[in-house]
Amino acid sequence: MDGFVDGGDARIRLSIVAPCYNEAEGLSEFCRRARAAAEAAAGDAFEIILVDDGSSDDTWGVISRLAADIPQVLGVKLLRNHGHQLAATSGLAVARGERVLLIDADLQDPPELLTEMMAIMDRGADVVYGQRSERKGETKFKLITASVFYRLLTRLASISIPQDTGDFRLMKARIVHILLNMPERHRFIRGMVSWIGGRQVALRYTRDARYAGSTKYPLKKMIRFAIDAITSFSIIPLRISAWMGLISAVFAVGLLIYTLVQWFDGNVITGWSSIMAAISALSAIQLIALGTLGEYVGRLVQEHKRRPMFMIDCVVQGEVTSELSDDFSELDTASRRSELGRLSAVKPAETRAHR
Ligand code: UDP
Ligand code: MG
Repeated sequence: MDGFVDGGDARIRLSIVAPCYNEAEGLSEFCRRARAAAEAAAGDAFEIILVDDGSSDDTWGVISRLAADIPQVLGVKLLRNHGHQLAATSGLAVARGERVLLIDADLQDPPELLTEMMAIMDRGADVVYGQRSERKGETKFKLITASVFYRLLTRLASISIPQDTGDFRLMKARIVHILLNMPERHRFIRGMVSWIGGRQVALRYTRDARYAGSTKYPLKKMIRFAIDAITSFSIIPLRISAWMGLISAVFAVGLLIYTLVQWFDGNVITGWSSIMAAISALSAIQLIALGTLGEYVGRLVQEHKRRPMFMIDCVVQGEVTSELSDDFSELDTASRRSELGRLSAVKPAETRAHR
């Protein structure tokens, strides 16, 4: 199929975007279910965008085979591992549908919910996001940390981010374009979409266990993700540092007065250990405050460099592999569209129409 038309595409009603990192095992099954759901919702006017986020297994091989077999599959290969949020962003950037479904490739979010999401969008929603009422096959630790994180974030963030939502959501193209035009490199997509606003509707669902493989979010990545989320949506941690400073200053003044009073009374200074304790407590507070400051300043430095948000090695559709321009991630909506249009100009003849 040649879905590419200059300046975007009225013929693609739906894009499904799935970031994949070492998902070779379950990907074919994902594609089968996603395709069935898409066909039910949009006939054959859809595309499935599978982003290989620098996998070390055969994910790209599987994607290439799927692309060769299924005309609606568009494979995107990133130059290296970019992480879930950027992989998703790159997939959104090549999506041309009027509506875009962002979904994990591990089948934890059932693609079949698409039907219901489409119906809610028909009634006027700009975004329909999945909200987990139950999560199967997750460790206790993951459930507890996730719950603490979402509650903490709601308290800290200056906007309201719905609880217990992931990035599983159906968005209108317009929302996707606004999202893509937000320039930050440290991206927390679910928060950014909330921030955009419009009519956002929740759809409650049960999150399944992974179909295959294991989680690609080890503790280290989870912590980094949480810090990204908090620093990009809240400056309260900076204020907390200031408050801690103030409180310890009051405490220090009290201590000083106490020492002076003792001194006038002629008491020799005893209690070396209490002084040491006070000093170490205060330096701990200072280090925490500095560290917090560092998180924000560090992000400023990184954002300031304005390196490309993501780097696409190549894309594959049918049996044709092509390259996009090197600055694809930095293009505006119109240029991105014409770039995708240029891609199509060389390919319809070579791609098999129907199989
Ligand atoms: N993922 C990715 N890049 C990464 C880590 C994960 O593209 O560096 C993808 C992964 O393949 C999956 C989705 O992001 O489709 C969510 O990851 P995962 O299922 O491991 O997270 P969890 O559901 O355990 O939070
Ligand atoms: Mg998962």
